[in-house]
Amino acid sequence: MNKCDELYRGKAKSVYFTDDPDLLILHFRNDTSAFDGKKIEQLDRKGMVNNKFNAFIMARLAEAGIPTHHKSLLNDEESVVLKLDMIPVECVVRNIAAGSICKRLGIEEGLDLNPPTFEFFLKDDERGDPMINEYHIESFGWARSEHVVKMKELTFAANDVLKALFLAGDMLLVDYKLEFGLYKGEVILGDEFTPDGCRLWDAETREKLDKDRFRQGLGDVVESYELVGHRLGLNFG
Ligand code: ADP
Ligand code: UDP
Repeated sequence: MNKCDELYRGKAKSVYFTDDPDLLILHFRNDTSAFDGKKIEQLDRKGMVNNKFNAFIMARLAEAGIPTHHKSLLNDEESVVLKLDMIPVECVVRNIAAGSICKRLGIEEGLDLNPPTFEFFLKDDERGDPMINEYHIESFGWARSEHVVKMKELTFAANDVLKALFLAGDMLLVDYKLEFGLYKGEVILGDEFTPDGCRLWDAETREKLDKDRFRQGLGDVVESYELVGHRLGLNFG
């Protein structure tokens, strides 16, 4: 399989065609962005750490029966994935209140959400990724109703797997974002699951170990991502 032209350059990853029409290469760059691309920095080793971290999590999700696009690690910063027709919607599950929900609803950070709550956001940086509901998704044709149901089901299924996985490493999975796409009519988990797209706190101290370290200028961003990986038994080399 050979790498071909760039298909898309996102804020943190680049996507390349390959000579197999069903496969793409995802390149995890060191670029780190927040606030819909308004804050951007290069962080050494982040591409490599996120690529390996993502491969590990995608494998755990696949073992649990969640269909994912991840095929293989190609090298330190690149992975081979199934080419999906991406649904332009972000699926967010929250186990503990943090981030935008606190501002939007005036809720204190750290409140346990029981049951966990679910939100959809439209992938649209220009409009600040507005929150939407399933009626919007169907009315505007972003996805069909059965695909919306499936995205919710798979996002919650991932919650059970990932909460237990992180808790075994003494961490709380506060919230996370997943993106899905279609392959031959089937809803498949795409994009990534890394500390760039979730919140993870130390279970005892509640220290932040995720991208909030970058958003809030707390330092040791990649070091924290690596610490999370080590706690899950990952070795980044
Ligand atoms: P953004 O687009 O938000 O800046 P990234 O820098 O992470 O994000 O870019 C990666 C892009 O690749 C995203 O737009 C994502 O939806 C898309 N993508 C992820 N996985 C796949 C896939 N399997 N097939 C096609 N596109 C994908
Ligand atoms: N998230 C993401 N990409 C986005 C928006 C959110 O990965 O474009 C993740 C974010 O890292 C967090 C969860 O989704 O784990 C919920 O994010 P929130 O709505 O609180 O937005 P934030 O305040 O983090 O922008």
